[in-house]
Amino acid sequence: MDCYEIVQANKHALMGHAADVGPSAEACGVFTHNGLLWTLTNLSEHGEFRIDPNDLLRVWAWTAAIWHTHPNGSLRPSTRDTAGHPANNVDGKRLGMVIATTDDVGVVIPW
Ligand SMILES: [Zn+2]
Repeated sequence: MDCYEIVQANKHALMGHAADVGPSAEACGVFTHNGLLWTLTNLSEHGEFRIDPNDLLRVWAWTAAIWHTHPNGSLRPSTRDTAGHPANNVDGKRLGMVIATTDDVGVVIPW
């Protein structure tokens, strides 16, 4: 998957994850190059997200984009999202960033 089209089934799954974690938490995971959606462990206890690095290592070779949910309804990345995103050529790849709310999904950084 070398474009940033998100199939409708994955949009619904992401919105479902946003709803499942509730209004005070975030869910997170990755999209793989072949379009699969993986949910990874969120280690944050402060309402944001911090992907378990062991989880990320297991899927890193296939990762095309990182997704997380926003309980506040905004598709805009927070300052922390932007600062912490490994978008700039880590291991020779540019990762996308996808943000989902309970009723929409946005691609912030295409991959
Ligand atoms: Zn965020």
